[in-house]
Amino acid sequence: MLKIQTLSSGSAGNITYIGSSNTGILVDVGLSLSMTLKLMAQANIDPHSITALVITHEHSDHIKGAADFVTKYNVPVYIYNRYAKTLRGCLKLPPHHFVETESTFTIGDITVSCFPVSHDSKFCLGYTFQCGNAAVGIATDIGQMTDIILANLARCQVVVLESNHDIQKLNANKDYPDWLKRRILGNRGHLSNIDCGRAISKLYQAHVSQVILGHLSEKNNTPLLAYETVKQFLATQGITEGKDIYIDVALQSKIGNCYCLE
Ligand SMILES: [Zn+2]
Ligand SMILES: [Zn+2]
Repeated sequence: MLKIQTLSSGSAGNITYIGSSNTGILVDVGLSLSMTLKLMAQANIDPHSITALVITHEHSDHIKGAADFVTKYNVPVYIYNRYAKTLRGCLKLPPHHFVETESTFTIGDITVSCFPVSHDSKFCLGYTFQCGNAAVGIATDIGQMTDIILANLARCQVVVLESNHDIQKLNANKDYPDWLKRRILGNRGHLSNIDCGRAISKLYQAHVSQVILGHLSEKNNTPLLAYETVKQFLATQGITEGKDIYIDVALQSKIGNCYCLE
């Protein structure tokens, strides 16, 4: 049995729960500890059941509450080894585990694989989690879809994939300076709705059946816009949402649907 549930997803804070019958993992703790615990309570997840934290990268929307969670519940953190020194200062308590990119390790009965993604942080990893025949994957904060990301996600039944912004909405946003727009739109920024749709059409060919759109920008996207853009792009490829593949949208600071795979 393998569960995946987003507890919060978006530019203001990310937390995803991965669970099996005896193992609980939080991927990123990008909200305050109090907000994290509130969302976990809403999702009926006992914080004492968490075996480990797995961190994608060091931006605050992914680690804001990580140190407090680790201090309170004394769980190990799995992070990319090249960032160990900096993050060790941030996370305070040992023992932590330093993972190599494109490596595989186990947490309880869950096999975890990580892979590099293109993002303007010191490091950024995507992850897949496997238990028995069930596998789920997470890839957000990706400036571009790559063959490595696709190859890793292709093993999964359920995938959380970034659908960060609508390109026109971002370009028309007067509150965003040009440098920031260039950063978001660049190869080391964030994946747009249309690029997400393009990636999903490839995941469909690999038999991924459920995609959860994640890490939506609150300023340059809406859940409906992301969903409709992806759905319409898939339709141009002859792929029908709700029949050939299912699309869900993860929300900011709100728990998402729980997917339980046998
Ligand atoms: Zn980031
Ligand atoms: Zn982020």
